[in-house]
Amino acid sequence: MSEANGTAWGMCAAFGCPLAGTVGSENKWYCFCHANKPSNFNDAITRELREKQAHIVNAIGILRIHGCSFYGSDAEYRAIQQLLIGADRRDLLMSAEEKQTGGARAWLLRLERALVDACAGFGEQKPIPLTVPTAPVIGPTRASNFHPYADGAEA
Ligand SMILES: [Zn+2]
Repeated sequence: MSEANGTAWGMCAAFGCPLAGTVGSENKWYCFCHANKPSNFNDAITRELREKQAHIVNAIGILRIHGCSFYGSDAEYRAIQQLLIGADRRDLLMSAEEKQTGGARAWLLRLERALVDACAGFGEQKPIPLTVPTAPVIGPTRASNFHPYADGAEA
């Protein structure tokens, strides 16, 4: 779901982003972290994902590849466990309730939410409008006879 702009097929259009492009925006596909963010924050978000949140990114990758199912094998489940424990994020391990209901999909959503929260600080500002103000100019249009601090008693 990417074009010939250097990103691998199916990946987020933001340069270097390790997540899949799942949200369409501006004729490109972005991940849920980059979507609807001002593009000048793309690199900061990518850096956050690659350098600080790689354990969650990789856990999500494993979950998605296996279709949120560990049926018949829990090697992938254990791999995700190791990633999260290794990064000291035991709070993100599959909860007892998620385990009981087979809720790998709910777990995936919780992991994705953790990434969205981690990137929430980037790009909160609204994009600057590109339109040029066209209202008539008021005030002096020439500087030669304009003296804003003059007292009016000049020669
Ligand atoms: Zn992305």
